[in-house]
Amino acid sequence: MRFLVTGGAGFLGSHLCERLIGDGHDVVCYDTYLTGNEKNLENLRNEPRFDAYERDVTKFVEFDGELDWVMHLASPASPVHYLEHPIHTLKVGAHGTYNCLGLAKAKGASFFMASTSEIYGDPLVHPQPEGYWGNVNTIGPRGVYDEAKRYAEAMTFAYHREWQIPIRLVRIFNTYGPRMSRQDGRAVPNFISQALKAQPITVYGDGMQTRSLCYVTDLIEGFIRLLDYKGAARPFNLGNPHEVTILDIAKRVKDLIGSESEIVFEELPVDDPKQRCPDITSVKENLGWEPAVGLDDGLAMTVDWCRANWA
Ligand code: NAD
Ligand code: UDP
Repeated sequence: MRFLVTGGAGFLGSHLCERLIGDGHDVVCYDTYLTGNEKNLENLRNEPRFDAYERDVTKFVEFDGELDWVMHLASPASPVHYLEHPIHTLKVGAHGTYNCLGLAKAKGASFFMASTSEIYGDPLVHPQPEGYWGNVNTIGPRGVYDEAKRYAEAMTFAYHREWQIPIRLVRIFNTYGPRMSRQDGRAVPNFISQALKAQPITVYGDGMQTRSLCYVTDLIEGFIRLLDYKGAARPFNLGNPHEVTILDIAKRVKDLIGSESEIVFEELPVDDPKQRCPDITSVKENLGWEPAVGLDDGLAMTVDWCRANWA
């Protein structure tokens, strides 16, 4: 099959492109390299079934030839990045999703939407099942990302209902692994970068807020299984339900690296969710998927990659 992956030069997108090529498909990547990097696609450079183009999906999206799938991952994903690019983040979730759905419709292709656990906001239900509608501050700084993705979900379902476009929708919970940029700003790459340089490890707030970290290969396996899903259109949570505090993650990274860094506490960003953990009952039942890589193993593989690849 032929796939278009938007945001394919990013952290998740590059792993997805590699997996699809490995599975024997043709893959085209569209990316602006705003937060991604051509270097992430180095392994695919000489692959005849792979092409990458600099394209902004907030503008009209054209594609020459047939397509079976449009997989829409383009969007800043780290809070640091979407706070730096608030309007672009809204545009890529809204106009970008609309354009990519239009392309899928024109090509008779299926559409895959990379949504996020952020649509649950600072959740009042814990762990979060797909039926929970969320608790988002629309006008807060994170609203640009959360609301863009909520709009993207609504638009994806509207295209499905009005035009019968086959859709898949995943709500991705915090995922980490090789190819995260040193400048990404999310907790795992920040802590690793700081620990490697023996700089203070910056924990925001008291570090008692929780997240549930999924290793990247587990997540991509979930994406691939979802492509074969035959049931009624619905959102699926994808993430690792092993919930830990941010302070615990900072300590694990420090110990793993054997770093001299001290852990320091800084101001908690506005609207930072206090807790986050996916209820993965649906995805287990429907796709037989659950994560296989534990946190310590995943962090060790990530640290090895960062040591070898970050200048
Ligand atoms: P990333 O920043 O590494 O990748 C995003 C990619 O999108 C980058 O390569 C960027 O250059 C590209 N991009 C941005 N605007 C674009 C545009 N207008 N046109 C084309 N390309 C554009 O982030 P990631 O972690 O790989 O996230 C990928 C997707 O998964 C995002 O949609 C994000 O919202 C979603 N997601 C990720 C996580 C996670 O934990 N990694 C969690 C929830 C959701
Ligand atoms: N965080 C932190 N120190 C950092 C970066 C992040 O304590 O250097 C915290 C952040 O406030 C949040 C959690 O770690 O509570 C996860 O943040 P991240 O940016 O990785 O993703 P989020 O889940 O907030 O989108």
